[in-house]
Amino acid sequence: MKIAIDGPAGAGKSTIAQLVAAKLHYVYIDTGAMYRALAWACLHECVPVDDEQAVAGLLSHGQIHLRREQDRQCVLWNERDITAEIRTPEISQYASIVASYGEVRKQMLHLQRALAEQGNVIMDGRDIGTYILPNADVKIFLTASIQERAKRRYLELSAKGVDTTLESLEEEIAERDKRDSEREVAPLKRAEDAHLVDTTGQPIEQVVEQILDICNQTGE
Ligand code: C5P
Repeated sequence: MKIAIDGPAGAGKSTIAQLVAAKLHYVYIDTGAMYRALAWACLHECVPVDDEQAVAGLLSHGQIHLRREQDRQCVLWNERDITAEIRTPEISQYASIVASYGEVRKQMLHLQRALAEQGNVIMDGRDIGTYILPNADVKIFLTASIQERAKRRYLELSAKGVDTTLESLEEEIAERDKRDSEREVAPLKRAEDAHLVDTTGQPIEQVVEQILDICNQTGE
């Protein structure tokens, strides 16, 4: 079974997808981490993020690996573990820029479809239900109010010691959602057959239960 979870930034996709994956014993694939890894590589290998050909060239010569270690997912670029380094607001913005390039998305589509061949998978991103796995058995579009999404990000980053403010995060999220929704290739969009799940004011456990119910109904 393939489960696709899409939605705007900070809707809780990765937290919820990991919990659902653990309950169902599925492989969890975080596609946002792949765009983040590419953005990180641009910064560290001095490739200008506004040069589509150069960014696509970097991706075709580099290697992104997602590896499960105990209860967390690690992200590697050319075997270097960059898991912690890709979660900054700066990388979020750069990831959304490199994700707008058709050449980059074409390569990511092949990489992500190959990862989905691992069997039972739950994959989260922006275009999983619409482009990467259009035949997914279950599609979820996860959302929440922008205020709540910014607040969650703020608490998450503050706990990691990242210096930021609620206002700047709200702006960052709004800008990223706009770029992700308005890009020409595979924009952020709810698939017609996706279940809409609004997590505003809902505890995580309740959302996980709701998604497990949807999966059970599909499996019946
Ligand atoms: O999900 P996350 O916030 O980690 O994703 C970072 C960025 O990567 C998003 O803002 C989006 O631009 C891009 N992305 C994408 N398609 C995906 C996953 C992420 O365009 N499937």
